Amino acid sequence: MSFQRVAIIGLGLLGGSIGLAVQEQLHGVATTGYDADPASRARAAERGLVGTVCGTGAEAVRDADLVIFCVPVGAIGAVAGELATAIPAHAVISDVGSSKQSVATALAAALPGHAVIPAHPVAGTERSGPDAGFASLFHNRWCIITPPEGADPSAVAAISAFWEALGARVELMDAAHHDLVLAVTSHLPHLIAYTIVGTADDLEGVTQGEVIKYSAGGFRDFTRIAASDPTMWRDVFLTNKDAVLEMLQRFSEDLTALQRAIRVGDGEQLFEHFTRTRDIRRSIIEEGQDDARPDFGRSDH
Ligand code: NAP
Repeated sequence: MSFQRVAIIGLGLLGGSIGLAVQEQLHGVATTGYDADPASRARAAERGLVGTVCGTGAEAVRDADLVIFCVPVGAIGAVAGELATAIPAHAVISDVGSSKQSVATALAAALPGHAVIPAHPVAGTERSGPDAGFASLFHNRWCIITPPEGADPSAVAAISAFWEALGARVELMDAAHHDLVLAVTSHLPHLIAYTIVGTADDLEGVTQGEVIKYSAGGFRDFTRIAASDPTMWRDVFLTNKDAVLEMLQRFSEDLTALQRAIRVGDGEQLFEHFTRTRDIRRSIIEEGQDDARPDFGRSDH
């Protein structure tokens, strides 16, 4: 099985990037797309994010053999339900949502007769909307595919091959395990960034502009993450609640341990902890998942 007509619902950062990447990497594969926002549809057409930008979702999916939902996770079930009668029976259904158990449940309920193979490309930026997408977004990034029990192996293989063709490295995972892993690698870091930027903003009256002025001391790296799309992240926290709360509990315990080390002057504990975390940064660079240059290569720009 390989896909010849791909429909993309939601033409923002992820949907736009998939559309551009398919056109660049999978010659001969037709792409259609739909976005709820007329201004986004117009911009998507101008940028050529997909071959045909359609005026309705039903039109976009009508001839598709693969439908990919690229809307915020809280909206996926409702959007899929609206298109249920328009999607051809043989079409494989997938998505790019950042949490997977809730999406798998919502898609299975909305489209019970279809092969549903959820996926999560672990690739993104803090930008959103139809201007944000670019074809190389998935190069050398992991795409986690979470097939439900009993999923058609040929549909799983086809989705895997699709993502590999866009430049991604594919891993298969149970949806619950995905949600736990991503809670610590992605969701918790976003929650911490949103918190610290809010705390600094609350203190602005005291610090009088110095938060911005001296942000190169570390704060600005949090502001990049905290600039991520509010709708998307609201939905991620609401749909991956249990795993996020579990990881937040562990984080609070570790923070309390470091707080105590500072209070009692336990420099050895602090030094050992910081040495361990520096090694993690080195592993990420060795894996090709970040830029090895100092300060993310910013000084080169
Ligand atoms: P985005 O840039 O905001 O794009 C989402 C698009 O979907 C927007 O244009 C939005 O339009 C549109 N939309 C919302 N509801 C819709 C509906 N009912 N029908 C059709 N279109 C609708 O967001 P994104 O970053 O691409 O995120 C999309 C999905 O990818 C989310 O599920 C997210 O969890 C996942 N994801 C994101 C990242 C990342 O780093 N951003 C990484 C991996 C996965 P409006 O602007 O009018 O609402």
